[in-house]
Amino acid sequence: MGTDSANSSAPRPHAPRPNAKDVPVLVIGLGPVGATAALILAQAGCRVTVLEADACLERDLTESRASTFHPPTLRMLQDLGVGEELHRTGLISRTYQYRDRHEGLVAEFDLSVLEADTAFPYRLQSEQQNLVDIIHRRLEAMPNVEVVLGARVEAAYQDNGQAVVRTGGERPREWRAPWAVAADGASSTVRKGLAVDFPGMTYPERFLIVSIEDDLNALIPGICEVNYVSDPEEWLVLLRTPRHWRVLFPVPEEADADAVTDPDAIQRRLLDLAPNPGGYTVAHTSLYHVHQRVATDFRHGPFLLAGDAAHLNNPLGGMGMNSGIHDAVDAAGAILSAIDQDTEPLEGYSDRRRDVALNLVRAATHRNWENLQQKSADQRRRNHEELSGIAADPVRSREYLRVSSMLTTRA
Ligand SMILES: Cc1cc2nc3c(=O)[nH]c(=O)nc-3n(C[C@H](O)[C@H](O)[C@H](O)COP(=O)(O)OP(=O)(O)OC[C@H]3O[C@@H](n4cnc5c(N)ncnc54)[C@H](O)[C@@H]3O)c2cc1C
Repeated sequence: MGTDSANSSAPRPHAPRPNAKDVPVLVIGLGPVGATAALILAQAGCRVTVLEADACLERDLTESRASTFHPPTLRMLQDLGVGEELHRTGLISRTYQYRDRHEGLVAEFDLSVLEADTAFPYRLQSEQQNLVDIIHRRLEAMPNVEVVLGARVEAAYQDNGQAVVRTGGERPREWRAPWAVAADGASSTVRKGLAVDFPGMTYPERFLIVSIEDDLNALIPGICEVNYVSDPEEWLVLLRTPRHWRVLFPVPEEADADAVTDPDAIQRRLLDLAPNPGGYTVAHTSLYHVHQRVATDFRHGPFLLAGDAAHLNNPLGGMGMNSGIHDAVDAAGAILSAIDQDTEPLEGYSDRRRDVALNLVRAATHRNWENLQQKSADQRRRNHEELSGIAADPVRSREYLRVSSMLTTRA
């Protein structure tokens, strides 16, 4: 049994806390991050109100968003009592590969070397909506939780130290509480309402994600379930989820979106990747802009920003949702400590989580992008030698995987 160092010193968040009983807390957004924060606070006994803009949460599971759960996240979700149900929706990937589009395998990493570090020495591949659905059902069954769907927050401000938000729609309403977790995603209304800056950059290229019904394992011999494929012209990520294979392609800045997402153009791209008699069955495509942005402060009075509302990064390494869930655990823990001690221990939240967002998530995901699209043949060769050297050495491999699996961060 491993130690799960990212979370080993954290208090188990699910125990009821006598002081938390009936203390009101607002959670804005029922994505994976808001859902996690709401469940921790509710299990502790708080009176939680979740405000979610969407009126219906039956989202399309083919939608290409996060699908990788790293070991420390699995530990946290296990502690919350949702880990087993989440595992039933997913598939366990123990290995991942770096490949070169022309030369093939560069290095294969096996997460089994983390057995001494974690009880979950693998990645769980499961669509993020599975976690939201599982937690949503739990929240609906709790008497101290109100989940309000179709409640889009339109304004957020402080009043006498309290968090106040206004929802619009047919029945506009004001909500207030001593604390609020803002997990309303990349375009966060709360972040904008509080005038928190969101500096960073947008990548020049867009990312095209194509989900296919076909089995890439049978078409590209030797790949495993997660593959980062470098190429100066068109790098790729090949990823298996429980329902599909996903292929991520970069799309040049100047390319026309309609032309790129045209079904024939997508077939050509896929056939160029691997011939497939009869063509590919495409389940879903999405083309989107990718950013690296970190809010200048994750705390504004009684509001704690978490997840995409606080930081955005590229998906290369699967760290966005994971670090957001770690924010949720930290934010909920900070609020519960504030309730227990009746003091201001929210202070450290922003520094801790900004440090992870800047120095782990932004750094690692940007490095992954640089390496995948490396144009210099010499540098590409050096990258490949380094990766294959690490993979061949169990000690270096363990250290490498502890970082890329987010086991070295604290939540
Ligand atoms: C294509 C793609 C692939 C990705 N792949 C990965 C990956 O492999 N691994 C990984 O870790 N991450 C990945 N990510 C990132 C990941 O999807 C996000 O980091 C994650 O969804 C963040 O969760 P969240 O709860 O913060 O935000 P969201 O999931 O965006 O949830 C925000 C919620 O708030 C609601 N909301 C929005 N505005 C309001 C409002 N004004 N009032 C009330 N509610 C509101 C929304 O309806 C939504 O339910 C990917 C992202 C994309 C786009």
